[in-house]
Amino acid sequence: MAKRASGIETKLIHTGEPRIGGAVAMPIFQSSTFLHEGETGYHDVKYIRLNNTPNHLALHEKLAALENAEAALVTASGMAAISTTILAMLSSGDHLLAQNCLYGGTHDFVTKDLPKLGIAVDFIDGDDPDGWRAKLRPNTKGVYVETLSNPLLQVADLKSVVLFARKNDLVSMIDNTFASPINFRPAEWGFDLSLHSCTKYLNGHNDIVAGAVIGRAELVQRVKHKLDHFGGTLDPHACFLLHRGIKTLAVRMRYQSESALRLATFLEEHPAVARVNYPGLTNHPAHQRARELFDGFSAMLSFEVKGDAAAAQRLLDRLTLPIVAPSLGGVETLITRPATTSHAGLSPQQRHDLGIADGLIRVSVGIENTADLISDFEDALGE
Ligand SMILES: *Cc1c(COP(=O)(O)O)cnc(C)c1O
Repeated sequence: MAKRASGIETKLIHTGEPRIGGAVAMPIFQSSTFLHEGETGYHDVKYIRLNNTPNHLALHEKLAALENAEAALVTASGMAAISTTILAMLSSGDHLLAQNCLYGGTHDFVTKDLPKLGIAVDFIDGDDPDGWRAKLRPNTKGVYVETLSNPLLQVADLKSVVLFARKNDLVSMIDNTFASPINFRPAEWGFDLSLHSCTKYLNGHNDIVAGAVIGRAELVQRVKHKLDHFGGTLDPHACFLLHRGIKTLAVRMRYQSESALRLATFLEEHPAVARVNYPGLTNHPAHQRARELFDGFSAMLSFEVKGDAAAAQRLLDRLTLPIVAPSLGGVETLITRPATTSHAGLSPQQRHDLGIADGLIRVSVGIENTADLISDFEDALGE
């Protein structure tokens, strides 16, 4: 172990690496059950569903270290992390405040499932602390936000969210998927729990689904017990792939962020483009806030071309490098129209209210050569 507090690049490689049997790469422990060694509590028995095999424990140690948090837990998907956490923190009769532009799956869960379980939800504007106070109820127990909103890449007033949660005794939860621990570490800013779809940047290779909960030990323990019951456990092979993929997170994320800034700058200057949303651009409404909070601007951007949705679709059809597919955060550049994928479940009016035009295009910038990528966009945008 390094003697001084290690940089995040070093932790990615050397923390959570038990070197069992001398193995440099973490082996897969493909065993559902393990010798009983005197454990007394149900949650401590060694069994895959109880999230405590060597593969799980190695990931928990690494993920907690990456965000300078007390503890971490991996889950079968990002949605398993999100749903299990919310259900561990809130019970029937409680009330949740949630940011108004949530990831589609989370939005569906909090609007369709929570009310049936007796948990009420109100949506808040991430930029309007006065509005948050107005929606506070005696039974409000939690506040839920996202680091960067999808697909407009807005940045909520995250410092005020933490202050508001502390003052009102709420559990603060943040979906940190888009930023990754490279660009934002919620525990350092006072958030109680950080949630991830590890399907995205943490794994980075578009080949598994996985999730994580990172934060205060006592709360992570509560989520673990809930997960033990619900069964949303990450299987050892997916643990292995995540543990392997995560090692290159810093080099991937920084290269992708640099590429995204160059592509965003190119698009912004192109006459056929009407508008670009990327927090690294100085004219982005939350650019200063992003500079203060983040170590980098991430590699997600969205933009609108001049003309209608058909013009946007034509561009997608003409691009040769970006793959038209949902999801994000992997080594391949992926491109989508949120109106037809992530936000297809909303009505045109709801999308309009959120500022999501039908022609909006979202790009998850991968690790291809940046000039190749820009030249592909240049050709596709040309007459
Ligand atoms: C993909 C995603 C999720 C859901 O994660 P899964 O791994 O697909 O379950 C949650 N939040 C955000 C921001 C995401 O991008």
